[in-house]
Amino acid sequence: MHKKTLDTPIQYIKGVGPKVAKLFAKLGVKTVEDLIFFLPRSYEDRRNLKAISDLVPSPQEVIKAEIIDVGSTSPRVQKVTLGDRSGSIQAVWFNQPFLLRMLRRGMRLIVSGRVEINHYDGALQLTVKNYEIDTGYNQPIVPIYPLTEGLYQKKIRTVVETVIAEYLELVVDIIPKRIKLPDLVDSIRKLHFPKTLSTISKYQRRLIFDDFFFFQLGLGLRRDKVKVEKGVGFDLEPEAESLGSNATGTATFSRRFHLPFELTNAQKRVLNEIKSDMREPIPMSRLIQGDVGSGKTIVAAIAAEIAISNGYQVALMAPTEILANQHFLKIEKYLKEHKIKLLTGTTQRKQKVSELHGADLIVGTHALIEEKITFRKLGLVIIDEQHRFGVLQRAKLSQKGSNPDIVFLTATPIPRSLALTLYGDLDRSIIDEMPPGRTPVETHYVPEKKRKSSYEFIRAEVEKGRQVFVVCPLVAESEKMDLKAATDEAATLQNNVFSRFKVGLLHGRMKGDEKDQIMQDFKNKKIDILVSTTVIEVGIDIPNATIMLIEHAERFGLSQLHQLRGRIGRGSEQSYCFLFSDAKSKDGRTRLKAMIDSTDGFYIAEVDLKLRGPGDFAGVRQSGLPNFRVADIVRDEQVLREARKAAFELGEEEKQSLKKEVKRRYGKFLGY
Ligand code: ADP
Ligand code: MG
Repeated sequence: MHKKTLDTPIQYIKGVGPKVAKLFAKLGVKTVEDLIFFLPRSYEDRRNLKAISDLVPSPQEVIKAEIIDVGSTSPRVQKVTLGDRSGSIQAVWFNQPFLLRMLRRGMRLIVSGRVEINHYDGALQLTVKNYEIDTGYNQPIVPIYPLTEGLYQKKIRTVVETVIAEYLELVVDIIPKRIKLPDLVDSIRKLHFPKTLSTISKYQRRLIFDDFFFFQLGLGLRRDKVKVEKGVGFDLEPEAESLGSNATGTATFSRRFHLPFELTNAQKRVLNEIKSDMREPIPMSRLIQGDVGSGKTIVAAIAAEIAISNGYQVALMAPTEILANQHFLKIEKYLKEHKIKLLTGTTQRKQKVSELHGADLIVGTHALIEEKITFRKLGLVIIDEQHRFGVLQRAKLSQKGSNPDIVFLTATPIPRSLALTLYGDLDRSIIDEMPPGRTPVETHYVPEKKRKSSYEFIRAEVEKGRQVFVVCPLVAESEKMDLKAATDEAATLQNNVFSRFKVGLLHGRMKGDEKDQIMQDFKNKKIDILVSTTVIEVGIDIPNATIMLIEHAERFGLSQLHQLRGRIGRGSEQSYCFLFSDAKSKDGRTRLKAMIDSTDGFYIAEVDLKLRGPGDFAGVRQSGLPNFRVADIVRDEQVLREARKAAFELGEEEKQSLKKEVKRRYGKFLGY
């Protein structure tokens, strides 16, 4: 006899052999524990079964009937005639041809689904959501589990019954009792064998809470670990006296920085959050989110200035050479009195360690984390577009100092629920306000028939001295063909549409310095219209470019469209984004509509998350999401927040006592 544990493979359960175990595995159920938390996807109320003759159109009905006839039909549609004493009705399935091998005349079924009028013959039909062979299972409320071919409701219910009877006692509710929640064991039981529909959501919520609670606790523990290290405590106004400071320090900074503008309220708020972290001798670990152009760089530069004035060095890491270059140029302007160095793959060979040690701030790419690169006294690390760097790389850079403060910058608006999951161990600051004097970009949808008039409009703008981005999507299977598409587009525009202007081309196959040359030419107005493939995702800053024309806009993801649009609207002139498209699909249209409706990156990200689910989001793609039993971060955001709060507010002793469970569930994901 094996010992009863929650880890027991499902195969050891009565009625489950290797074959059925394999089918369960397809549903993600391998152990007894998996099965206990394998919840019904819906419930069916069988207290009021209808006679067929009483049916009228309705979104959900359940009937008990016999198969009178199994119709011949296409692989796409499967039809069966069902009858009871009162009459008969046609039941319809889609895309389940294997059904026809299984269903036989004379079988008794319980079938639920939508009752509607078939517009070919005007008769009622039942579009089946769920069906099962009537085995006399007589519960008023019936759980409906997710299925896979070969594994059906009856089998799953029987196995669940066995497992619940024998193993449920092993489930222990270890969340402290003062957090008022329904009992865990009771909740599980009632979700598998409900007596009423009205309390189901309450019990579901209990299990969702459980998932989030232990995960957030894991993030909290990771955060606590960073925070107990001894870090650098910076003096916020080291030169205050000599500069003649004021109370807030902002004016002082503006003077030191030669800032031609005043910080926005959002920038001030975020800066204060950073400053209070910097003052504490605890390592800062803060994520700064803000749309492209919201002014993150200047905020980071001010933080850098504080570190430098304290005698420390600062490292700023960017994901690409172009971005590193751009940061370098900006930072040089902001921090005129300090020594700024650039370290990229290109400059690296020439770089001497002594030179690096002499620098106050080093801007670079991945080159920064190479073994041979060392710092004199690293006090602050700034990581731009942090989702592109793995956890390991972060660690590598911060190990080059002794617990330096770390600021992550990201222009990718991450929906709140995702941020709390992926970056929930970081403190967060959001710059949710654009610098003044900018007119929001006007966005227009352009169907093919309006192409000509859009070109007219664009010509007039270029006449006035404005510049244009034209972006072609990845259309072909190969990079070579994409290149051809973009090349052809550039040629057409040059020869037929904008012959009076200079059209340039930028594509992914170009070498770094070729790209830089083109960008430089664009910046210097030697090019009016720049055609590019999206291979090149650069955060180029060209305020005079006021038009973004996107071909086949429906082929782009929402976040990508938003990023592209972020390249314009950086100057004082009105900017325009034209979404060229003949989108037919519903999702395509929803995406374009979101772009037209809003310029708020967070709003756009929320829509994107709802449309696509989390799978495609930056960060998720790299690390995946934790394996929750029941919870869904998009659907259950409210519970996520409550669970996080509860987990973070636990006492130290409580946290430690629950650590083992956190590790058991999420250790792998959290890298314990
Ligand atoms: P981000 O890094 O968030 O994309 P930047 O820091 O590069 O944004 O700022 C974008 C542009 O806005 C820069 O040209 C910068 O000089 C300008 N800028 C930043 N903050 C302000 C402000 N408070 N007022 C006016 N202009 C600003
Ligand atoms: Mg930036």
